[in-house]
Amino acid sequence: MVVLERRKRKGPVLSASSIPCLRHIPTINITEGCAHGCAYCYTQGYSGYPGAGRVVLYENLPELVEAELRRKRKRPRRVYFSPSSDAFQPLPEVQEITYQTMSILLQAGVEVAFLTKGAVDERFLTVFSHSPAKVFAQIGIASLCERVWKTLEGGAASPRQRLESIENLTGLGVVTTARLDPLIPDLTDTEASLEPLLAELARRNVRAIAASYLFVRPAFAQRLADCMRVISPSSPPVSDWPWQEFANGVGGGRVIDMEERRRRFAHLAALSRGYGIALHVCTCKNPGLGRDGGCQIAGPPYPTSLDGFPLFGRE
Ligand code: SF4
Repeated sequence: MVVLERRKRKGPVLSASSIPCLRHIPTINITEGCAHGCAYCYTQGYSGYPGAGRVVLYENLPELVEAELRRKRKRPRRVYFSPSSDAFQPLPEVQEITYQTMSILLQAGVEVAFLTKGAVDERFLTVFSHSPAKVFAQIGIASLCERVWKTLEGGAASPRQRLESIENLTGLGVVTTARLDPLIPDLTDTEASLEPLLAELARRNVRAIAASYLFVRPAFAQRLADCMRVISPSSPPVSDWPWQEFANGVGGGRVIDMEERRRRFAHLAALSRGYGIALHVCTCKNPGLGRDGGCQIAGPPYPTSLDGFPLFGRE
């Protein structure tokens, strides 16, 4: 059960994130905390994290965004939802604020980009259908496996619901990518796991995916280790993975080593190409492995076309 607390937010709300790929775009968090409660969520280590099962909703965001747009001499071209939470959590109060805020932005001609593991329902699809070229969706889905979903991200939409969202969004003409993050070595990056997922994505006209591997940080290492024992008792413990530290604002954590990731990304790139899908590697979490253009978490860089950006695994 999730406890929702309503709060009024003060000050500017459209702010750049410290995540390198979001530094040049205003971002907005509808909540602190997230009802999806993923075991691997980095925000568990953030200072504003309200604790497991608690979500703080900023209920005055629509008014604040409207006022901020009115005040700005130059409106932002695009706004990203949400660097530290999920705008489509399955709480009606959260979805209502997301709906109002996105509607205000789109009506003002501002593009909306989002990454979600939630279900995008009919009401949002209707709003997006008025200006599909101004919406950029990334749907987090790393596996079709029910056990992985229920153990690691049981509060999020099911893989089937996420595929349905992808289908509906691409059907509207919204540029929609899938985010395979976190991939778990030898569990969700095997051909047996990836091939059916890629086939489902290709069937729904997904032309690009973003990927990164599982990072383990102290704030959730024990929880994750417990989950991994449930999913795959024979896998080597994540505590054996090497620690990698980054100096660019995205922290670090335990992750399989860089050469191993390089090899596995190349394999994923080759598999994806077979389905007509391009792979973008998250450069924030894989410095030295991704290429310019990164994982396009907030949609393609301007101009808004997926063509012409360097892709992993291609020269
Ligand atoms: S959906 Fe994203 S923000 Fe929400 S718990 Fe999962 S990883 Fe964290």
